[in-house]
Amino acid sequence: MKSTKDIAEMLDEPACEHNKKEKSGCAKPKPGSAAGGCAFDGAQIALLPIADVAHIVHGPIACAGSSWDNRGTRSSGPDLYRIGMTTDLTEQDIVMGRSEKRLFHAIKQAVETFNPPAVFIYNTCVPALVGDDINATCKEATERWGVPVVPIDAAGFYGTKNLGNRIAADAMIKYVVGTRDPDPLPPAAIEAEKAGIKIHDVNLVGEYNIAGEFWHVLPLLDEMGLRVLCTLSGDARFREVQTMHKAEVNMMVCSKAMINVARKLEQQYGIPWFEGSFYGITDTSQALRDFARVINDPDLTARTEAIIAREENRIREALAPWRERLKGKRVLLFTGGVKSWSVISALQDLGMVVVATGTKKSTEEDKARIRELMGEDTLMIEDGSPKALLKVVRDYKADILIAGGRNMYTALKARIPFLDINQEREFGYEGYQGMLELVRQLALTLESPVWEAVRAPAPWKAAAKVAKASEQAMLFAEPVAA
Ligand code: SF4
Repeated sequence: MKSTKDIAEMLDEPACEHNKKEKSGCAKPKPGSAAGGCAFDGAQIALLPIADVAHIVHGPIACAGSSWDNRGTRSSGPDLYRIGMTTDLTEQDIVMGRSEKRLFHAIKQAVETFNPPAVFIYNTCVPALVGDDINATCKEATERWGVPVVPIDAAGFYGTKNLGNRIAADAMIKYVVGTRDPDPLPPAAIEAEKAGIKIHDVNLVGEYNIAGEFWHVLPLLDEMGLRVLCTLSGDARFREVQTMHKAEVNMMVCSKAMINVARKLEQQYGIPWFEGSFYGITDTSQALRDFARVINDPDLTARTEAIIAREENRIREALAPWRERLKGKRVLLFTGGVKSWSVISALQDLGMVVVATGTKKSTEEDKARIRELMGEDTLMIEDGSPKALLKVVRDYKADILIAGGRNMYTALKARIPFLDINQEREFGYEGYQGMLELVRQLALTLESPVWEAVRAPAPWKAAAKVAKASEQAMLFAEPVAA
């Protein structure tokens, strides 16, 4: 189990801007902080997209159910990550003190059944409270079966989901990164090098490939001559995470989630990093430019500019008819972290007006970027309760609410168009191509005939109103002379 000191260190992330200003640390665990995602939940959603690993949740079965498969991340190959595995601890196991034994057997079963390249063990509240030594069990299992068994000690009560993300990232640095060198270049890359194009190795940290959206961007990176060693963790393989220390540059795609990976890779291996987003035309172009800027290869810079010019022209042409339909529509955006500013930029690219944005899970840096994009007087909302959201929709005359799935029924019950932007969504919005999908979904949502139908009085009420009106007309009508 982690000590209070370990957790305090994890919360005092030096790479966070606000820790430079004042020694405030990040959000500290408070009673109830696990509501909306505990540390275990955060750790599991951060690593579950590593597709070929056996992910075992050590705890009562309900923990495994709380976050398994709730992120719509896609794999281009193995799908072992989609099999929910748990030690399913019961009261009997706890009373009889056999939970470590169950864990050992669970690892054996996973290794013998699926032959995975690695097994990840997620600690939860109950085994942490009874004092299971998951580090020792993992070490013993690694020696016994010759497969890396990695302990992720992020019991739910340690704190928030965000803390869990960091604990997961820390485990990758501690146990996985740096244990293998990258594969030799594939034949196509060797040919490109012969033609004078230098191939550069890069990583993406905090990219989850939701609904396969990173596949909109990957061909562009290929074309630029960037080989992605690893995306932590969307569509990743264990062997790719092992090679992250050999990249020339890291891009942090989600600011809060795994910032400690970027910092530690810089400290331990000297790899520079930058923060960026692939949502929207402007931000996608900026991210591609930043790769070229940090790598500092003039040929790469020239090729990147050519790709950006070509792609921006292509996509602006394709978006033109959609922009006309969406221009001036007012949006209330309620999402957290990096999306609170990156999606604003994407919507502004479409000529839409963001009337307010949620900042509940945003860092000070995220808020500064929002102000940069929307002006100093922008409305930032912390209170995500249905009542507060609906008030903003009414007061600011928003045409649509863009938020996470949990706000869907708030919007639909109030008969307000709603678009899901969080991890449960079915559509990928990254890159230039993702913008086309985003406009399509926005237009389909806003222009759906259902809004007119549900906002009109119900047919039986309309009929009753007509009947009542004609009844009254009869009552007050002048009697007809005999
Ligand atoms: S780890 Fe703890 S807080 Fe998280 S789901 Fe399990 S019991 Fe609940």
